[in-house]
Amino acid sequence: MKELVVLSGKGGTGKTSVTAALAALGAGEVLADCDVDAANLHLVLGTHGEAAHPFVSGHTAVIRTDDCSDCGECARLCRFDAILAETVAGRIRFRVDPIACEGCGVCVHFCPSGAIDFPSSTCGWWGTSRTRFGALIHAALDVGAENSGKLVTLVREQARKAATAAGADLVLVDGPPGIGCPVTASLTGADLVLLVTEPSLPALHDLGRIRELARHFAVPVVVCINKCDLNPRLSDRIAEFCRDQGIPVVGRIPFDPLAGDAQIAGVSLVEFAPESPAAAALAAMWEDIRGALATAPQPKG
Ligand code: SF4
Ligand code: SF4
Repeated sequence: MKELVVLSGKGGTGKTSVTAALAALGAGEVLADCDVDAANLHLVLGTHGEAAHPFVSGHTAVIRTDDCSDCGECARLCRFDAILAETVAGRIRFRVDPIACEGCGVCVHFCPSGAIDFPSSTCGWWGTSRTRFGALIHAALDVGAENSGKLVTLVREQARKAATAAGADLVLVDGPPGIGCPVTASLTGADLVLLVTEPSLPALHDLGRIRELARHFAVPVVVCINKCDLNPRLSDRIAEFCRDQGIPVVGRIPFDPLAGDAQIAGVSLVEFAPESPAAAALAAMWEDIRGALATAPQPKG
């Protein structure tokens, strides 16, 4: 089984649209949406038969008021100002702000009355849905919740399990934008990363940064220049950068005004306008990606 991860470095390059097109072209037997802060692949693929599970990670302190002696030690020790002192019936009482609590456990350890519980926190969900191409493993973090890297890792693990159960030979992963912890969690151990970029200076800058990240984790990279005809000079500059770095450019996708209509219709461009130049370029790119996957070295570890 191989794992292809689609990343962009910068948001707004059309990463999810490209992922949906690849799914429609045959890469979507098992899909994983690892953009857990703003998952949207399901909007294009159309899902049904959801089975959702809570995502439990970390802990939150809770003071048992009846056992608390109001000594204030926890508020003094908390580095995150997560313990609030409130006057109730003329008496100062302490309670934990669950949003501010980082779950470090210091107050639990040092409370002289043993009055602080430390239950696990539910900070999102993950689930499996069916799409018209195959299974989609997706997830969402609650607003303000952290640990998105852990949730990304969980989504990838579940996608690999689903692929093993289905006998699929490819997992297609829609990764998060940026270069932070969730991106690292998305690409480590992958067989191939497809970097979707666009002809703009910020995109070129971010392409270099995410290229470095992939190089650090020894993951091979190929590049797709989306909306390449909007600025041919910058597209050539990106291609030149890729040539200097030894990165194959597997696709130059022209801008297609029908892409927005396809999104509104809830389908990929290759389904909505299969005869369009952009759809033809996406199909040709998929063939090149298949070739790159076939020759990709086994990931380490
Ligand atoms: S340290 Fe324990 S006893 Fe003291 S105020 Fe906090 S919860 Fe109450
Ligand atoms: S667990 Fe840590 S962050 Fe949360 S209230 Fe206690 S000391 Fe503060």
